[in-house]
Amino acid sequence: MNRRDAIRTAAAAAAAVAASIATGAAPVLAATDPQPLRRGGSSAQPSSGQPVPARPAAAQPATEILVRGGRVVNADGGVFADVRIVGERITEVGPGLTAGPDARVVDAAGHLVMPGGIDPHAHLQGSFADDLTTGTSAAVAGGITTVGTFAYAEDDESPVEAMDRWLAEVPRMAVGDVFFHASSWPPTPELAAMMPSLAARGQPSHKIFMTRGDFGTHRRALIDVLDAARDAGVVTLMHCEDGAILNAALTRLRDEGRTSLAYYAESRPEVAEIAATQDAVALCAHTGAPMHFVHLSSARTLDAARDPAFGALPITIETRPLYLYFTEEWLRGPDGPLYIGQPPLRSAADVEAMWQGLRDGRVDMLATDHAPWTRAQKMDPELNVGRLRPGVSDLRFVRPVLFSEGVRRGRISAERYVEVTSTAAAKAFGLYPDRGVIREGSFGDVMILDPDLAHVVDATDDPSNSDYTPFQGWALTGWPAMTIRRGEVVYEEGRVVGRAGSGRPAVRSPWGG
Ligand SMILES: [Zn+2]
Repeated sequence: MNRRDAIRTAAAAAAAVAASIATGAAPVLAATDPQPLRRGGSSAQPSSGQPVPARPAAAQPATEILVRGGRVVNADGGVFADVRIVGERITEVGPGLTAGPDARVVDAAGHLVMPGGIDPHAHLQGSFADDLTTGTSAAVAGGITTVGTFAYAEDDESPVEAMDRWLAEVPRMAVGDVFFHASSWPPTPELAAMMPSLAARGQPSHKIFMTRGDFGTHRRALIDVLDAARDAGVVTLMHCEDGAILNAALTRLRDEGRTSLAYYAESRPEVAEIAATQDAVALCAHTGAPMHFVHLSSARTLDAARDPAFGALPITIETRPLYLYFTEEWLRGPDGPLYIGQPPLRSAADVEAMWQGLRDGRVDMLATDHAPWTRAQKMDPELNVGRLRPGVSDLRFVRPVLFSEGVRRGRISAERYVEVTSTAAAKAFGLYPDRGVIREGSFGDVMILDPDLAHVVDATDDPSNSDYTPFQGWALTGWPAMTIRRGEVVYEEGRVVGRAGSGRPAVRSPWGG
């Protein structure tokens, strides 16, 4: 058995473990009433009057959903077809399908039937405002069925122990399906030795923050970790901003007494992102370790990441909504702190470069970097350039905003929209073709989008615990009408109806496997 086969076998074993976690061994929600989650205290039932069916026990026949009359859009094309989902999987895609005896028939005429969104980068733990329940509720309300987040370790935990603890949280807490990236520092021989264990758990990814002040000191050890990651098929997520440059910029601002958030952009200059990206590219070229660059923000950074001199490298790139819709001017207004993310907002030319990258494929995907805070937390007068709360809530609105501003305005095609919000992430993170495509055999993860539904963005529509959105008041056309996650309707008629604890770990193949 070669190394790839060994990893594949180990991943299959992990899938079986995850499945058993998901069924028998899972702790159930004892204290929490398993009612549909509602926003705003409404107790109204869906107007269809249909209670959400419980997940079928093994002995019962699998439930069927027939999505009828819509236009099925995958990354490689669209076709008018019905979609039959039996149990958790799509069993048939084609015209004129006949519903089974107990099928729920969903009329999708005039609607787009797209793969459920896959967001590989969200923060649903720690000091952020969301947990797996509220975060994945926001996700399914936005047509996203699978969310990638972080298995942060407690002080006394190894990255693998943390991974096991977080995987066990999913069938207790999550509405959507969830996968995890390990995150550990500094790089050590022990971390390198854990790479096969991450792959064996079906969670072959980990994240490195080049922002750390001591990044340079650990560069040599990191190369050993990257070698081990490559051998195990583990993807390394890279936050590309150079810690030494950030530190120097911050020191200068402090020396000059310019520490208010008005100077935020100066505290994280673009050159820090360019330098770290060049470094990450070199590390990738040297090791051959697969990498994913998170939240790229500028034209010159993108050029550095796609340096043609290196040829084809195993690098995927995400940008995030902030860098598609906002420029640095937004940071200077009275509400500037609300728009702070890392890296900072950039110029109008950089915004255009991100759109161009999404169009031409140099940017592989749009990820949220959902990092939820309340307005009060973001506007806290105690904050400064050295102590701040980066990020915004994005899971709820990322797909509607991109559809309205991207597809309807002709900036990207509907197929490319599916690719950058689902398929590309499925392929980069070992989920394809279980996810990221609507075809026979794939999971029944579906967003039914009404392309003509006009609605104004309001943060109160967001199940996230964040109480504001940068898109407040935007008039969008094209919203999710229904979200189906593994054959279960989890969002319809404007409300999340999926149960906390009905989500499952999304088990992934190692990179290239
Ligand atoms: Zn992040």
